Amino acid sequence: MSILRTFQTLDNWYTEHRVADVPYWITQNYLYQKLDELPKDIFKQEIAGESTERRHIRYITLGSGSTGVLIWSQMHGDEPTATRALLDMFAIIKNQRDSEIIKTILSKLTLYILPMLNPDGAERFTRRTVMGIDMNRDALALRTPEARILKSVRDTYNVQWAYSLHDQEPRYTVGGTGKAAGISLLAAASNWELSVNEVRRDTMRLAACIGEYIKNIIPDQIGRYEDAFEPRAFGEAMHSWGARSVLIESGYIPGDRHREIVRQANTIGILGSLFHLANNELPQDDLYHTFPINRKYFAEYMFKNVAIYFNDTYAGTQDVSFHLEYNPQNEKKNLSYKLCLTEIGDCSTYTASYVFNGLKLKLRFSIDSGSTSRLPVIDKEVNCEITGTGEDEHISVADGVPAGYPENVFAKHLL
Ligand SMILES: [Zn+2]
Repeated sequence: MSILRTFQTLDNWYTEHRVADVPYWITQNYLYQKLDELPKDIFKQEIAGESTERRHIRYITLGSGSTGVLIWSQMHGDEPTATRALLDMFAIIKNQRDSEIIKTILSKLTLYILPMLNPDGAERFTRRTVMGIDMNRDALALRTPEARILKSVRDTYNVQWAYSLHDQEPRYTVGGTGKAAGISLLAAASNWELSVNEVRRDTMRLAACIGEYIKNIIPDQIGRYEDAFEPRAFGEAMHSWGARSVLIESGYIPGDRHREIVRQANTIGILGSLFHLANNELPQDDLYHTFPINRKYFAEYMFKNVAIYFNDTYAGTQDVSFHLEYNPQNEKKNLSYKLCLTEIGDCSTYTASYVFNGLKLKLRFSIDSGSTSRLPVIDKEVNCEITGTGEDEHISVADGVPAGYPENVFAKHLL
């Protein structure tokens, strides 16, 4: 079965059927309005339970095959990319239900899909549930109603496979390549020794299959999440409950602020791999290891050799890099950005969407007089301004960043 040929079909369908104008920050209200439009005969929708704030959480059953597959998105409320991709996937299934690919998936597999497992967090654009708990550390204790819902759907259907869908910070590179990690894959660990038992090997084969599809969209921008065993996480717990569990982390392609490219990669990677799963034709696990392990070396802006001031005190000429974090305005459901300090000093291991020559620039950090350290804090929001000009200030712009792209955001934060 040719991945490339199936990819081309899926890619054409994506262009034709993707749901237009889906906002980046989606709420449960928005999502459920879209789900209400789906035909009831193939998309069976039921309430799995209620969130802490008593929002109904739906799950959708699709297909009638003997192999159960559980798919959930947005257990972290500020990670909407895959939920948006699931809407595209539903649109493709609806419109192409008579095709060989979709018929095969729905006859061999039964999909149980929980889009937006943390709707209270999605309402506020926060990672944690409204109880302040990270659901992905609650698979054992089950203190949140949302975690209990996920566990109960798994228990009811005793699924063999699981997809856990997330967003990752825009701060990772694919190994040491300097390329931003667009998608990261993880075959969750099964034990502290990180051993590759049969369950884990199967999971690696599924992850490899997803990667092989996505390669056709972002060939050099797929990484592997570093292994670690976290028994409280659902990926790991699913293994102990007998479900092979893969994580897809939607990352960042420079310039693609709303992650539309990785949304497409999710839809096609999930559908393509389901088709292979249905045909029992997953690639070998060694392909999984061809994806380099992510490193946290990506920034949004980097200044080389810039004169730095802490308030009015000169602090040397150094490299400085920054990343952006979301700053959600709940009332209007509007996302702005906070400028955060990534690194000061040797930034030679970093790449960035935008790199500036700082030789004719001054970077002045405003440090609150109440600050005990009198230093800007790494990973925290910083207040700084840049002065000076230089015609040669741009050194490089990452591939794909649209012309004029930095001006709005950059000006807003730094001028
Ligand atoms: Zn997450």
